Amino acid sequence: AKGSGPNSWRGYDPRLRAELARAAARRSGLDRALAEGSFELYYQPIVWLDDGDIGGFEALVRWPQPDGTIIMPDDFIPLAEATGQILPLGRWILRTATEQAARWNEARLAAGVAPVKISVNVSAHQLRDPGFPDEVGKALTDAGLDPAFLMVEATESALIDRAGQALANLRTLTQHGVGVSLDDFGTGYSSLSYLRDLPVSALKIDKAFVDGVPAEPRQTALVKGIIGIAKSLTLMVVAEGVETREQRRALQNMGADLGQGYLYARPMPVREASELMRAGRVK
Ligand code: C2E
Ligand code: CA
Ligand code: CA
Ligand code: CA
Repeated sequence: AKGSGPNSWRGYDPRLRAELARAAARRSGLDRALAEGSFELYYQPIVWLDDGDIGGFEALVRWPQPDGTIIMPDDFIPLAEATGQILPLGRWILRTATEQAARWNEARLAAGVAPVKISVNVSAHQLRDPGFPDEVGKALTDAGLDPAFLMVEATESALIDRAGQALANLRTLTQHGVGVSLDDFGTGYSSLSYLRDLPVSALKIDKAFVDGVPAEPRQTALVKGIIGIAKSLTLMVVAEGVETREQRRALQNMGADLGQGYLYARPMPVREASELMRAGRVK
């Protein structure tokens, strides 16, 4: 009969209904949070493996709740991406991160230390928006940040769109001096020859690969190969999820340039990041 059976869309499957209700609630929650400006950016240092100097920070978004808990990006970015809410959210992230980096670099310049780069994650939706390069340019101008100190982090899958708009946007950005990092490298499906043609300046090796270094020989060999290819294409190599000193040492020996992970620091609120920066180095 209509509306009966476990797979029926017409029935009132309580689990499905609960799930839809939760998604709807989160969606309107996102709208409210956007209107009220209740998101927060955390910052995690990206560190030179050789001397522990801070080369930059990755901005990572958080959604603090009234009860003191924090909703993590994996629990709302995919929804924001599906609903298109990622466009206004992404704009806020970009503007906040560039303003913060400009403030940090002003202070560093005054103190006679090298500027840091800010890395901002951008999702597929943003990358495919023809207005994206202008939006980035405007954020940089308004913040007073030199494009050389912005890195845009994009995943391989976000770069593959049939219209080619994402690639065109990245080319425009690189022409203006903005850096592009290929994020989560190794988890996608693109071929290595594709890498050759991408307008990228850095490659981030995904934590899933870094986890096996140096304990698992096959995994380590793979990472070594990835670093070799990246270096031959003159890309900077950043290792994600560096948690131990053994990993740090092995990655440095294999030629990785920078590392990011709990060994150095967890993502932290802006005030702590500013303090860390005054200290200059993490380890
Ligand atoms: P991602 O870009 O790969 O970011 C790295 C994730 O690894 C972050 O999780 C970071 O906290 C975590 N991490 C860093 N070092 C370590 C480590 O040593 N050990 C472990 N276990 N984890 C480490 P987070 O902040 O939960 O972000 C998850 C994902 O959400 C990010 O993965 C990124 O894809 C997305 N995301 C975060 N912020 C933004 C944003 O502002 N915009 C967009 N579009 N996506 C974002
Ligand atoms: Ca150095
Ligand atoms: Ca990232
Ligand atoms: Ca990752």
